[in-house]
Amino acid sequence: MMTKAYQSIDVPFEYRHTCWFCGEPYFESYAFMPSPNYEQQAAPVLLPCCEECYGFCHGLKVSGLDLLRDKVKEKLHRKYEQHLQIGVNWTREELAASEFEGKALEGFRESAWAMFEIAKERVNYSGWPLTIDGLPVAGLTARFQIEFDGIVYTSLAHATEQLAQAYAIPQSYLAQVLEVVGRQRLAYAIRFAKSTGGASEEEREASIRSLQHLVAEEAALDTVDPEASAGVDVALDDIQSLIIARIQVMPQAIHWALTHGITTLHQLSAQEEAFFDDFMPESELVAFTYFNGLQVYFEKRESDPHWAARQDPNRDLFAKINSSQG
Ligand SMILES: [Zn+2]
Repeated sequence: MMTKAYQSIDVPFEYRHTCWFCGEPYFESYAFMPSPNYEQQAAPVLLPCCEECYGFCHGLKVSGLDLLRDKVKEKLHRKYEQHLQIGVNWTREELAASEFEGKALEGFRESAWAMFEIAKERVNYSGWPLTIDGLPVAGLTARFQIEFDGIVYTSLAHATEQLAQAYAIPQSYLAQVLEVVGRQRLAYAIRFAKSTGGASEEEREASIRSLQHLVAEEAALDTVDPEASAGVDVALDDIQSLIIARIQVMPQAIHWALTHGITTLHQLSAQEEAFFDDFMPESELVAFTYFNGLQVYFEKRESDPHWAARQDPNRDLFAKINSSQG
């Protein structure tokens, strides 16, 4: 019996003429052989490619199809980095409203969002499930992928590299912050690293230590019911601003917490997204500064109950919430 020279993957009807990697129009099939060939694959697998992905595949030596896919995606990310960053730097509305001058810039504005959308679709494209003669190709995994802001990255390391670049954060610092807070809090890690990453090395080390401390506190409180009680109606003017550990705690932030019935670090972290939704429209820096201030405030109240009960200038307001709890 003759062995087939090639194995062709099954291509569903609606995907004829489509690149398996990125969804662009078909150009040529790439004959993939693993290297090193751990599974002793006998014949190359033919993968439909667009012209660009076909080019990327050449020169890649990897031991499996999912690694090949990831490397092609990483090359797409790198090549279209500028296009993908359009989404980071502008929303569609901002781009439409921005007042670019001159013909060239006008053209840029019109095409920029389209370029972003195309690049995003290509890097996010997940292909179709691979089968050969109806049998699923084993061992193809997407479990290391991570999505942020609607864009898929091949791994946490890949996301860290690209997002550090996009947000102008030192890459090793973002990686350190992520190690402390965990990959499921990527958005928080970026905000934190962005607002503290410009400082000196000593200050960044101090930021990492305080972050470790906060995360440990949150973990310790994890057994406490995070449900916040009903908020109280408090006037902004009745709230006093304060400075703790050289960090200013803004009345607006305290007001938000009180009206949402939030009195602990743990409740605050459970409502983190809601907090940022409310303050991001003012600016990312404002939102982060407010949040950071509240964290420090609640940490102080929790670690020093005597202070919270006797000296905190807003103690009467917090007492209102505590007395409405029951
Ligand atoms: Zn392609």
